[in-house]
Amino acid sequence: MKYIDEYRDAKLVKDIARQIEAAVDPARSYHFMEFCGGHTYAISRYGLEDLLPSNVQMIHGPGCPICVLPIGRIDAAIELAIRPEITLCTYGDLMRVPCSNGLSLLKARSAGADIRMVYSTLDSLSIAEAEPNRQVVFFAIGFETTTPPTALALRFAIAKDLANFSIFSNHVLTPAAIKTILENSDVHPLGPIKIDGLLGPAHVSTVIGTQPFEVLAEEFNKPIVVAGFEPLDVIYSILMLVRQVNDGVHKVENQYIRAVTTLGNEKAKCEIANVFELRESFEWRGLGAIPHSALGLRSKYAKYDAEKRFEMVTPAAQDNPACECGAILRGIKKPSDCKLFGKVCTPDSPMGSCMVSSEGACAAHWIYGRFRRQGKADESWRTVA
Ligand code: SF4
Repeated sequence: MKYIDEYRDAKLVKDIARQIEAAVDPARSYHFMEFCGGHTYAISRYGLEDLLPSNVQMIHGPGCPICVLPIGRIDAAIELAIRPEITLCTYGDLMRVPCSNGLSLLKARSAGADIRMVYSTLDSLSIAEAEPNRQVVFFAIGFETTTPPTALALRFAIAKDLANFSIFSNHVLTPAAIKTILENSDVHPLGPIKIDGLLGPAHVSTVIGTQPFEVLAEEFNKPIVVAGFEPLDVIYSILMLVRQVNDGVHKVENQYIRAVTTLGNEKAKCEIANVFELRESFEWRGLGAIPHSALGLRSKYAKYDAEKRFEMVTPAAQDNPACECGAILRGIKKPSDCKLFGKVCTPDSPMGSCMVSSEGACAAHWIYGRFRRQGKADESWRTVA
C-alpha cells in the first residue's frame, strides 16, 4: 500500500534505531514528549520504545482531545441532553468518558436522554434537517484538526437556514497547551518534569503548519520535530531530536513533509477564523485553566452557540481521586503508576478519560504495552520488510 507500507519497513526502522544508539551521548539522558495521542498510539503499537537506548525516554503528553476535556464540560452536555426538546450529537469515544455521579453520555442515553453518535458534523446537520421540531446540538471537541469541519457545519447551517441547529464548542489549541507545559515543567505542584524536546503533532500541523511552533522552540530552547504517525516517521523524528540536542540547537523541523507545510492550510485557517474567536481562558483536564487556549463561536453567531442559546453552565467537577489522568496528561506519571490501571480500569470499563480512546495513554499502554511484555504484541508489521 503506497505511503503506508514504506513507513512500516521493519528493516529501515531498526536501521534508524541503530543510528539513534550510535548518536546518543551515553553520559546524558534524553527526554522527549510526544504531544499527540496518535504518536503515543504508534509508539505503543509498534513497540518503538523497546528499540530505543535506555537513556532515551518518551513521555506521554496531553494530545488526546477526549482525554483533556474536563468532566464539567461533559456534565454540562448531559444536563443539556436531558432537556426534553434537545438532541445531542457527538462522536463515539466521548460517549464512554466517565463523569460526575457515575454517569457518562452513554449511561445518560440509557436513562432516556436523546444522545446520538455521529461520524461527522454533516450527520448532525442531516438530523437537524430531518427533525425540525428537535433542537439539535453538536458537541464539538478536538484540536485544530477537527475545528474546520465544525466551522463548515455552521456555514452550511446558515446557508440552509437551520434554526434548530447549534454548536457546543470545546475546540482547543495545541500551541497554548505546549506553552503551558513548558512554562511549568520545573515548578508544577505535581512535580517537575524534564523535557529535552518534543514530537510535534502531525494532523494539527496539516492545518496550522509548523510556524506556530517556532516561537515555542525559541522561547523555551527546545527542539520540536513535527512527526508523522507511522513507525518510520516516529523513529526518524526521534533521531532528528537527538541530533538537535547533541548539537545544542532548538529549532522546528518538519519530518512530515508529505502532508505538512510551514504555513499549513490557509483555507482551513480562514474557515476557523471566520467562525471562531479565542476564549479568554479554558479549563483542561490535568493542565488547569490555560489563557487563550480554546475557541468559542464569534458573538455574531450567538444564536448558533449552544452555551448562549440554552444558558449552559459548566459545573465545577472533580476527577475520581484515585485516577492519575491529570499527572499522566502532564507527563509526570506513566499509566502503570496508577493503582487502578489494568485492575478496575481497562478499556472495557474505563475509570478515567485516558483509558477511553485508543489515543489515550492508558488505553494504548494497556492494549499494546502490557501484551507486548507478555510476548503477545501485534508483530505483523515487523514482517513487512
Ligand atoms: S488507569 Fe484509568 S484511572 Fe488510572 S490514570 Fe489511567 S484512565 Fe485514569
